[in-house]
Amino acid sequence: MLKSKFQTTELIEVLTKGIGVYETLRTYNDKPFAVKEHYNRLCKSLSYLKIDPPSFKEFENLVYENLSERIRIVYAYSNKLVSYVFRETAEDMNAGYIKIDFTNVRRADPWSIPPDLKSLGRPDIYLARLTKGDNYDVIMLGNKGQVCEGTFSNVFIIKQRKIITPSLESGILDGITRMYVMNFLKEKGYTIEERFVEPYELFECDEVFLTHTSRGIVPVNQIGDIQTRSYELSKKLSEEFEGYIKCLL
Ligand code: PLP
Repeated sequence: MLKSKFQTTELIEVLTKGIGVYETLRTYNDKPFAVKEHYNRLCKSLSYLKIDPPSFKEFENLVYENLSERIRIVYAYSNKLVSYVFRETAEDMNAGYIKIDFTNVRRADPWSIPPDLKSLGRPDIYLARLTKGDNYDVIMLGNKGQVCEGTFSNVFIIKQRKIITPSLESGILDGITRMYVMNFLKEKGYTIEERFVEPYELFECDEVFLTHTSRGIVPVNQIGDIQTRSYELSKKLSEEFEGYIKCLL
């Protein structure tokens, strides 16, 4: 379901001269998760575009007036900021057999387009998604060949119980789930390494998992034609993480 304050003329303005930014939030037992973090990230996106953000109260009201499993909030701008809200159903947390691959579409150079500018139709993300085929997601590399992230997910690898993930300096979106997952893992006593990750490391580690708002931790079973060594620990962490999030709300 879509709720909008758009008038047709405003919509035409936006389509011809405008830009839009968005956030997708998740609810657990009807409680929205990480509203403040999503608001802050939206403000960051708008700041790159030199657009004054809505107040937190306005954003929060949009969330609470449209509670649903997944809430997508779009702010579009031409000469004024207008909001669109999509109420969506959440995907099943158990994502089944997960196959991913690398895409030859690179993440845009951060000096050209900041990775945390979460805009509609971002060409690097859009073009990478076109190469997805039957993969759950595809991993983009950055300007130095480093692993960045999926088109809607962040990447983690597990190697001898150490958890490694591309650093923000790798040119990635500061995923909200990524941040919560790192806190969760630190609390569980894991060592986390945020650094540049080489593509071959995804094949030489014990496990790979993705993180994103809709499904939390997603264990990966296959990368291209190669099956991952294991996914058991990621599966366990995925289940525990859901409980952890519910306790935070
Ligand atoms: N990376 C990209 C490029 C994304 O678009 C997203 C989510 O939309 C993520 C990672 C995961 O971020 P989050 O955990 O905030 O959903």
